[in-house]
Amino acid sequence: MSNKRTLFWNVDTQEDFIDQSGKLYVQGAEEIRPILKQITDFAKAEGIRVINTCDYHHIYSSELSSVPDFETSFPQHCLAGTSGAEFISETLPESPLLIDWDSELAIFAEFDDPVGFRNLVIRKDAFDVFAGNPHAEKILQILHPDQVFVYGVSTNVCVDKAVMGLSERGIKVYVFEDAIKELPNLPLPFGTWKEAGIEMIPFTHVKKYL
Ligand SMILES: [Zn+2]
Repeated sequence: MSNKRTLFWNVDTQEDFIDQSGKLYVQGAEEIRPILKQITDFAKAEGIRVINTCDYHHIYSSELSSVPDFETSFPQHCLAGTSGAEFISETLPESPLLIDWDSELAIFAEFDDPVGFRNLVIRKDAFDVFAGNPHAEKILQILHPDQVFVYGVSTNVCVDKAVMGLSERGIKVYVFEDAIKELPNLPLPFGTWKEAGIEMIPFTHVKKYL
């Protein structure tokens, strides 16, 4: 294995998006469950750090609406404390450092040493983790990865925000093309990703990059 600092970036693989009875079910998302499990197991076996982002809303969150347009606003989902906000079993982070968006991290000694944790959970109250959690930027600075492998849901909303957000911060980004799923009503971001130098690879090729 090389000395590259590598992160896996697990985007919003939560019950409300992936379970067919979820509040904002992404059509077909259950198809990627087996590969998500493989990715989680591989990261554990190889000791790869995983950043797990998750939507964590309250009823007044700005992206929630009773009359959603399904582009910038969505019906209630991933409400704090509900089972829909939990990660699915295939991606459940083991012993994570939890970075909530409303906590004052100065009081958490663990925040001084996020590298002591293989799994980090970053809760967010927006599509974009860098907009939806005031600590995400700092965490990324501390971990300063050379390359990040992104996967999860949904391709054309939160995965896109993560991919572009990481790329704009000067990080080499790969997307596991067989471990993402899109919302059907929105355009796909693949052209934009390609222009930005983001590479889509099958998960099974990951070993070539480590
Ligand atoms: Zn949301």
